Amino acid sequence: MSSAIINGKEIGQAIRQSIAERVVSLKEQGLTPGLAVVLVGDNQASATYVRNKQKSCEEMGMFSELIKLPEETTQEELLAQIERLNTREDIHGILVQLPLPKHIDEDTVIATIAVDKDVDGFSPVSVGKMMLGQETFLPCTPFGVMKLLEYSGIEIAGKHAVIVGRSHIVGKPMGQLLLQKDATVTYTHSKTPDLPSFTKQADILIAAVGRANFITKEHVKEGAVVIDVGINRDENNKLCGDVNFNEIDGIASHITPVPGGVGPMTITMLLFNTVQAAENKLANKVKL
Ligand code: NDP
Repeated sequence: MSSAIINGKEIGQAIRQSIAERVVSLKEQGLTPGLAVVLVGDNQASATYVRNKQKSCEEMGMFSELIKLPEETTQEELLAQIERLNTREDIHGILVQLPLPKHIDEDTVIATIAVDKDVDGFSPVSVGKMMLGQETFLPCTPFGVMKLLEYSGIEIAGKHAVIVGRSHIVGKPMGQLLLQKDATVTYTHSKTPDLPSFTKQADILIAAVGRANFITKEHVKEGAVVIDVGINRDENNKLCGDVNFNEIDGIASHITPVPGGVGPMTITMLLFNTVQAAENKLANKVKL
């Protein structure tokens, strides 16, 4: 029997519907949620991501502003730009598209974003609050995975979740969010010996590796829920995940496809965080 497909497009759409309703309600109260997207340099992939984010904002009825800066922008100029956005009344969320040019220190830039506008959830304060289980903006990709699990009725408490990958934007926060929902969490990474001996124990397996079709049937326990965060190109230049879908199909109980699984959730949760930031502002919750 085939594995059940977790359809990120459909779940993302349902969440976007509720976001659109929240935007209408905010606008009726005189506030249009606004997202500023800062793009430095000419990275083509970044330009595409930014366009998609802006387009999605507009579809939701939100205001979005692109601040496009040349490659040679200095760190001081970028920080000054962020400081301006921090104080702007019409901007509720700020996103700095990564990667930044090499002469700019990403950590310093991210740490400059006001925590109540940090809709990517990457600043040290946001990360610390997440670790402590305090109210804050959650990083969009792992937050999106949590929504996929929730909407699919997958129980987390008491389950063994194994994460492959420990990046700051996906693997690490993913484990924390699952831990907060009472999973037992194991992190694995490039230095983990005998990876399958760990992944085979997973009730919930999260692949965030960045290697095409890396997770095969030898890694997956019968009946596991497999979430594929990866976005890669295979040897034929075809979009694919970190999981070899065809091999896992029928072994996993549930699986996310690529495309159409985790991907659509990331922008959805960015919109979610932005509307939340605007609602916080209206409620005068100045600091999250
Ligand atoms: P990173 O490259 O930052 O991290 C990859 C992680 O995988 C690292 O922790 C690394 O370990 C680990 N890893 C690499 N090789 C192995 C191996 N052989 N065995 C076990 N672990 C290994 O990637 P990201 O976390 O940023 O992204 C992961 C994937 O998710 C990419 O394909 C990316 O495109 C995709 N992505 C998708 C998003 C979406 O919206 N769907 C959003 C963000 C990312 P170590 O730390 O030891 O180096």
